[in-house]
Amino acid sequence: MTYEINETHDPNLKSWVESANDPNTDFPIQNLPFCEFDHPQRKFPALGVVIGDYVLDLETCDLADFYYGEPEPGLELVAGNIGSLTSLMVKPWEYRESIRWHISFLLRDTADKEIQSLVGRHLFPRSEVTPEIPYGLIGDYTDFYCSIYHATNVGSMFRPDNPLLPNYKYVPIGYHGRASSIVISGTDIKRPHGQNRSDAEAPPVFIPCKNLDYEMEVGFFVGQGNDLGTSIPIGDAEKHIFGLCLVNDWSARDIQAWEYQPLGPFLAKNFATTISPFVVTMEALAPFRTKAFEREEGDPAPLDYLADDNNEKFGGIDINLEVFIQSEKMRNENVAPHLLSKSNMKDLYWTIGQMLTHHASNGCNLQTGDLIATGTISGKEKSARGSMLELSWRGTEPIELPNGETRRFLEDGDEIIMKGYCEREGFRRIGFGECRGRILPAD
Ligand code: CA
Repeated sequence: MTYEINETHDPNLKSWVESANDPNTDFPIQNLPFCEFDHPQRKFPALGVVIGDYVLDLETCDLADFYYGEPEPGLELVAGNIGSLTSLMVKPWEYRESIRWHISFLLRDTADKEIQSLVGRHLFPRSEVTPEIPYGLIGDYTDFYCSIYHATNVGSMFRPDNPLLPNYKYVPIGYHGRASSIVISGTDIKRPHGQNRSDAEAPPVFIPCKNLDYEMEVGFFVGQGNDLGTSIPIGDAEKHIFGLCLVNDWSARDIQAWEYQPLGPFLAKNFATTISPFVVTMEALAPFRTKAFEREEGDPAPLDYLADDNNEKFGGIDINLEVFIQSEKMRNENVAPHLLSKSNMKDLYWTIGQMLTHHASNGCNLQTGDLIATGTISGKEKSARGSMLELSWRGTEPIELPNGETRRFLEDGDEIIMKGYCEREGFRRIGFGECRGRILPAD
C-alpha cells in the first residue's frame, strides 16, 4: 500500500545533486515531489521532479534510457517519457511508485558518472523555472471542514453554548468550491468586492471586503477516479490519491456572514484559492503516517463505510504547518515574516481516505486532477489557530506584529506565507515548499 516504507526512504541516501543533501532543504532525495513547470528554454510546460535546488525535466529526460541492473518489481511499467503531470496522475499508484524507485536510483550519489552526466543535462535551477497548474488539470475543487478545533472555534463565535452541530462527528462536512480561481503560489490576490451587511439596521452595501482572511489547509489530488454511480471503498481510498499540496483558502468573512445562509459559502470563497506548486506524493509521505484522530470517549464511531483498520492505524499524516505574515511596512523595513500559527495535519477529525470515500459514497464520480482540501487546520492551542478569524477572535483580539502594527484581518500589501514539513526520528525531513500570496487593493 502507499504507506509502505522502503529503500527510497532510507535517511542515509544522498544525491549527487549536492543541494539535495542540505539538512534544511525541503527537497532531499527522499521527497521527489512532482510539478508542472515552464522555462524560457522550453516551448511548452512539462512535468518535472524537484531535487534540492533543481527541477529534473521528465519530458526530455527519458527514464527508459537509463535502465540498469535488475528492475524493481513494477519498474517495467516505466517506458518512454511521461510528458505531463496530468498524464502521470491518471496512472495507477503502482506506476507512480515505480517511477519513484527509478528516479531515486538515477539521482543517488551511487549512480555512475555517465548517468550523472546524462541526467544532469536535464536539470534546471529551481530559481529559473515557473511552476504552473497544468491547463485543465483541476476539473473540480471540493473543500471540507475536517478540523474539529477549527469547527469548534468558529462555531463558538456564533453559538457559544453549542459550537459543534450534531452532524459533525458523523459526516465529513464539505462544499463544492470553484476550480477556475485556483492559482499557484506567488500569484497576487485582489481584494474582492461583495455585499456587506455589517449594519443590521441598514440594507447591505456593495463595497470592497473589509474582513479578508486566509485559511491554512492541505489539499490532495485525485489520481485515478471512479465511474459515475460507483463508490470507493475506504480500504481502497488511498489508491486514488496522488499526493498533497498546501492550500490557502482565501476568505471574505464579511461577505460570508451575509451570504452563507441557507446554502453555504459562495462568493466569499471563490475569488481565489492558492496552492503550493510541488505535489508531495503519498509514497514520499509514508514515514510520516500516523493513526487517525483519537475520538473522545462518547464520540460515535465512524459509520461502517468510513471505517477501516488500516485507516485507523495509518490514516493520519504528521505534517507541521506554519503560517507567516509580512506587511508592506515590514517588507519596507526589512522585518522578517512573522509566525502567526503552527498546526499539524494529524489533528484532523477525518482522514483524507475518509474524505475521498465519503465524497464518492453517493456515486459522485471523482476525476483525475480533482483537488480536495481538508478545511482550515487548527489545533487545540491558541497558537495553532489556522485562520485570522480565530487568531483575532473575529477581530476582537487584534494581533500584534513585531513592528508595532496590529491586524484584525488582512490589509492591502500583506503577504501570507504558508509552509509545511514532516519530521520523524530515523527519517529524513521533507517539506512542501511555500504557498504564498500578497493582497492587492480592490479596484
Ligand atoms: Ca476552507
